[in-house]
Amino acid sequence: MTTVFIISAPSGSGKSTLVDELRKQVSGLDFSVSYTTRHPRGSEQNGREYFFVSRDEFEEMIWKNEFLEYAQVYCKDYYGTARRFLRQAQDNGHDLLLDIDVQGAAQVKQRIPQAPSIFVLPPDRKTLEWRLKNRGSDSEEERRRRLDTARREIENYDKYDYILVNDRLEPSVDQLKAIVLSERMRHSGRPLSAEDQAAHAIAEQCRLSKVRDRVRPILDSFRDQQGQH
Ligand code: ADP
Ligand code: 5GP
Repeated sequence: MTTVFIISAPSGSGKSTLVDELRKQVSGLDFSVSYTTRHPRGSEQNGREYFFVSRDEFEEMIWKNEFLEYAQVYCKDYYGTARRFLRQAQDNGHDLLLDIDVQGAAQVKQRIPQAPSIFVLPPDRKTLEWRLKNRGSDSEEERRRRLDTARREIENYDKYDYILVNDRLEPSVDQLKAIVLSERMRHSGRPLSAEDQAAHAIAEQCRLSKVRDRVRPILDSFRDQQGQH
């Protein structure tokens, strides 16, 4: 049975970096390449990071009911997951990872309630700002908009099953991998090895109920600096 994993994060939190590492380390996990009306950034290639389409093309896909979910992100561009990626993963007996925003995550959860969802948080607002700047792919205005959206998106963290605070990269990759493996074990029904149990324990530490105290100062760092640029 295909497990659909949802991963969301404010832009710049390091989600793409984490997902790239995860895909190197875990097999049988397909990645859905989304459709978007935004323009390619830097070295992005059509069909690799996204399928870059016009507004007309996107709206035609909506009309033909080709999306599992779609949303307008930053009140501007459309982003959507084509249903065909789920069909392909099911045909291949693979799991599927969806990198989508909070609006898309809510739509998928409604359709597939058992889909495990993961929210990646930066350690604090300053770090997020620094990472966005360091990535060097957005204009000042674009970064400002991403930070503003981040403040709003972060408030939705408690709608997710797992929270991953991406502080140091290596432990964060280990946590993400543990969540995926732990969810797979749950469906496998086989006895757990010592290694499985260790992964399960790491994943459990990322459960929403376990991280509320860790998340509070992160939320505060965004609320305190609201409006300060
Ligand atoms: P997102 O996909 O969430 O928008 P990226 O993966 O593009 O974010 O990461 C934003 C920037 O932060 C990149 O320059 C990336 O190399 C860097 N980065 C990601 N994770 C970490 C981390 N744990 N520590 C330091 N820098 C990181
Ligand atoms: P970016 O422009 O930085 O690549 O992505 C902006 C936001 O759009 C991110 O939060 C990303 O998760 C989200 N996103 C990417 N693809 C999809 C998608 O197919 N559906 C939805 N709802 N959001 C998406």
